[in-house]
Amino acid sequence: MRTIKHWIDGTEVDGAGPFTPVHDPATGAVIAELATADQGVVDAAVAAARTAQRAWAATSLARRTEILFRMRELVVANTDELARVISAEHGKTVDDAIGEIGRGRETLDFACGINQANKGEFSADASTGVDVHSLRQPVGVVAGITPFNFPVMVPMWMHPVAIGCGNAFILKPSERDPSAANFVARLYAEAGLPDGVFQVVHGGKDTVDALLAHPGVGAVSFVGSTPIARYVQQVGIANGKRVQALGGANNHAVVMPDADFEFAAAQISSGAFGSAGQRCMAVPVAVAVGGAAEPLVAALKAEAEKITVGPGSDPATDMGPVITAQARERVIRSATDAIEAGAGVVVDGRDLTVRGHENGYFVGPTLLDNVTPEMSAYRDEIFGPLLTVLRVADLDEALELVNSSPFGNGSAIFTNSGEAARRYSHGVEAGMVGVNVPIPTPVAYYSFGGWKDSLFGDHHAHGPEAVRFYTRNKVITTRWPHRDSQVEASMSFPST
Ligand code: NAD
Repeated sequence: MRTIKHWIDGTEVDGAGPFTPVHDPATGAVIAELATADQGVVDAAVAAARTAQRAWAATSLARRTEILFRMRELVVANTDELARVISAEHGKTVDDAIGEIGRGRETLDFACGINQANKGEFSADASTGVDVHSLRQPVGVVAGITPFNFPVMVPMWMHPVAIGCGNAFILKPSERDPSAANFVARLYAEAGLPDGVFQVVHGGKDTVDALLAHPGVGAVSFVGSTPIARYVQQVGIANGKRVQALGGANNHAVVMPDADFEFAAAQISSGAFGSAGQRCMAVPVAVAVGGAAEPLVAALKAEAEKITVGPGSDPATDMGPVITAQARERVIRSATDAIEAGAGVVVDGRDLTVRGHENGYFVGPTLLDNVTPEMSAYRDEIFGPLLTVLRVADLDEALELVNSSPFGNGSAIFTNSGEAARRYSHGVEAGMVGVNVPIPTPVAYYSFGGWKDSLFGDHHAHGPEAVRFYTRNKVITTRWPHRDSQVEASMSFPST
């Protein structure tokens, strides 16, 4: 049995804590055991990070970015192998994993330009003979706690920017698909990053709690489900840390009667069923406005029925399994409850088995029509290949429905009307909006984040907001009086 270890101070380290199994979701088989980090392992990682960070922050920007450029090239060169590592533990198709790495790598691209993104300001003669400048300095040791659904991309929203800004970064990846984190750690080492600047500690709640309580950790970036995001923010803040905690989602796509239904259905289907619906920007809810309902449902049915379900390693597969047996049960239970409460079954994937993979965690694309807001299939984040259709009379009713959700991550509208698109984009309570784009994940030089229960904290992830999150501002006021000049100190508050 392969053992996945921690990566501390440039080398693999055994954990003293208990081991947890890692499964192949396509077969249900245990494929590795994961060492979990206890307090001692977390202490060792933080101590190594603190030592390494002091030297790293004093390293020239030119040298820091040279390493990030090399890391970017190594990620490109190793994309196929890394994608197979992701697929084996997550279950998504290798193609989808390649896409994930590409979107994650965009943040490395951004961080290669950190010298531009993290420049200070300067004002000459703010007062007579007085200059003022500002600079942003690293927080110190920062931690990233990340979910299973993007084992490379979500951590990569964090570490390139944190490291580029001069911090040391400790990653606590999901215990469900942890191998990709160690792969990335080895790439950083090969790129020449000094030991201790990027480290990986594995585990679950106990490891997270040890990081949240550790006085040596200055900031925590979290991405995961809403209850844990809320917990991490509250405990992190109580322990005096800077925290950004991105939570769950329930993204709606509104389809207007003037939309191109075939186009909208193809886009929504890829948003709903890609990665088996396990994306924070997935589209589990289609809101059909007025006469859109009948043609949209017919087009969605045709799209869902085209999807080939199988193991992620098979190039013929469009959609892999969900992450655990419990996740599979959750999807099936919420679909069944909705059907019993009156929802119409358009496509039923609950009984799907994949030949040769009978113990895999598969559930087929499932499409339910006439779903109502009270049903858990709509209300809760199901995080699986379940697409619900709700019908509303007009755009105002659509906005009211979408805005009544406690989540506010992403949202999309499909329409040919600029007026409707503008009204929706401005009125919807969500952090990221797509117009005829189902998954409006911002490019890396903008920042990523939702509203309401989809994000706790102020700063969004990656892009300019990440630079602010991982740095502290300092304003320096300077006077170099001439030897002969008479600068008088006044007892009054100086104003000019
Ligand atoms: P999760 O909340 O179960 O786990 C996320 C992280 O928290 C993992 O590292 C896990 O080990 C840790 N964790 C789990 N339970 C904990 C506890 N009780 N105390 C402390 N730490 C704990 O999430 P998941 O199932 O891995 O990922 C799916 C969720 O992540 C979905 O809700 C999805 O919407 C969300 N997500 C959000 C975004 C976003 O940008 N908003 C992006 C990706 C995923």
